[in-house]
Amino acid sequence: MKEIQQVHGNLSSKLYRMKIKGSGRMAQRMLIFFFTGIFFSCNPGKKPAGNVSIPQDSRFEKLTEVFIEDLWKTYPSWASGEGNHSFDTVIVVPDEESRQRELEFCRRYLDSLKRIDEYAIEPLHRAEYRVMLNELQAIEWSVRDFREYRWNPAMYNIGESFDKILKGDYITGADKIRILYRRMKNIPDYYLSVQNNIDLPTFEHTRLAIDQHKGTVGIFDKEIRDSLNRCSIGEHEKQMIEERLNKAVDAIRGYIDWLEKSLLPSLTAEKARSFRIGKENYFTKFGFEISRINTAEGIYRKAILYKSLIQEELLHMCLPQWKKYFPRQPQPENKLALTRKIIDTLSAIHPHRDSLMVEVRRQLPALVNFIKKNDLLTIDETKPLVIHETPEYLRGISGASISAPGFFEKEDTTYYNVTPLTGFSSAEAESYLREYNRYTMQILNIHEAIPGHYTQLAYSNQSKSVISGLFHNTAMVEGWAVYSERMMMESGYGNKNNEPDVMDTAMWILYYKWHLRVICNTILDYSIHVLGMSETDALNLLVNEAFQQDTEAREKWKRATLTQVQLASYFTGYLEIYALREEIENRNRKEFNLKKFHEKFLGYGSMPVSIIRQLMLEGN
Ligand code: ZN
Ligand code: ZN
Repeated sequence: MKEIQQVHGNLSSKLYRMKIKGSGRMAQRMLIFFFTGIFFSCNPGKKPAGNVSIPQDSRFEKLTEVFIEDLWKTYPSWASGEGNHSFDTVIVVPDEESRQRELEFCRRYLDSLKRIDEYAIEPLHRAEYRVMLNELQAIEWSVRDFREYRWNPAMYNIGESFDKILKGDYITGADKIRILYRRMKNIPDYYLSVQNNIDLPTFEHTRLAIDQHKGTVGIFDKEIRDSLNRCSIGEHEKQMIEERLNKAVDAIRGYIDWLEKSLLPSLTAEKARSFRIGKENYFTKFGFEISRINTAEGIYRKAILYKSLIQEELLHMCLPQWKKYFPRQPQPENKLALTRKIIDTLSAIHPHRDSLMVEVRRQLPALVNFIKKNDLLTIDETKPLVIHETPEYLRGISGASISAPGFFEKEDTTYYNVTPLTGFSSAEAESYLREYNRYTMQILNIHEAIPGHYTQLAYSNQSKSVISGLFHNTAMVEGWAVYSERMMMESGYGNKNNEPDVMDTAMWILYYKWHLRVICNTILDYSIHVLGMSETDALNLLVNEAFQQDTEAREKWKRATLTQVQLASYFTGYLEIYALREEIENRNRKEFNLKKFHEKFLGYGSMPVSIIRQLMLEGN
């Protein structure tokens, strides 16, 4: 994540070296875009007024304490997820009453925040204040207006929270089983209530709910049952637990049956809700979850622009490769076709379908070494990272992901989930492997693990601010992962091979192709939800303009129908972080140190980039 020493104070020229090879004009343009228009509406804020601020600050601190206690009472499963185990025995039945409690909770703390003058508290508190305000307003909007509880049957999956307790080691043996026993109590009521909530779902979320809940059945019927059978408790108690377990399994199976046999067949094309959330919802959700300083539309426009810039740059890199790989064939007229052919040729170098996990394991130590050698960032190697197969109940959204420990269990294991290709035909597997070829596989590892998500979340968990450690801004988190890919490339990652020239160009070509995906994710998400883009046009964008493999493109379409604004977080956060780095560097080129910048930036936790920016610029 950190810059190498040789380029300190000279990041931009390093960054654009690859581009300048192809086109000087292009380099100039890219440079300008990074600088402008990112932070157009930032309010520098009034300075806190000396001693007057002290009572307000202590009031604010008390408020956050009470707020967090209340937060756990309102969202006990969230508490468990963060490693606060006092609420492990509770799941909240999602009914009208629970939604009213959420709204009351929001109202209460929005009122309390109103009574504090945000300009009279110290900067870190002001940052927390803004994060809280945003989150509370987001919950209100979500319960009152967005009302996902009525149309997304997949949001009710209890599998993960049970699995986390099951796999966790803070409690063991019979004690663990007893906790799970108490937690299972509400499951039948829970799923009855869910059936009442669901009004007019989408096809897509209904299908996802069916698939994922089948994985959840396994957690109960197999894993919890196995550990019950293994544990030494009295026969009577065992029987009691078994009865409740059976009821839980029946409830989950009942839910799947209901979805499959009664709900799904009733959803005709006219009757199902569209998965497209529409302009108003999209803009609002983008504001709450992604950025308040960039608009969804502004980012969409930038993505369109960057797409053509990167395509142009790719062409400049691929052109000289043609003679090397196809000395006897005439160059294609169509520029995109030429780029595609070179990318396809390089993509054919990929790991075997059964060795994905082995590859990931092999590459991670190399990333750590590179970062150390180039002094890019301090990596805490005491935090365990375990690479394993994506649990069933998490499959269906993406091929690789990170499950990080919660705020209150910082020392626990982080899991790198790699989805195995079981069930893929050989054609599907080949397509997938070409997407995650020798080159992009390395970028994937940078993104997911080191110095991407795993590293960022480890820093976030060390943050002084509980508020920022608990409320993660997606654009900051994903933006960091995308930024770290770029930063590693700038620092010369991938150059040091036996064949340095070949490796260098190939790695950059595939990096740009990967980056084009980030850009197209933004275009795709906006186009699908706001502009009504069809599946055909979406696949055309991904395959023909972003050089993706068929399987990847289809999976991406599926994902874009199941999530909203999340796919735009990557590019938005990347732009914001990059712009911040340039801004700080330009203030004092001599003093700028990339390692310090990264560590400082990550030290604030996972707050929105705009808020971190303000803290950094004010020297806090
Ligand atoms: Zn192959
Ligand atoms: Zn990510």
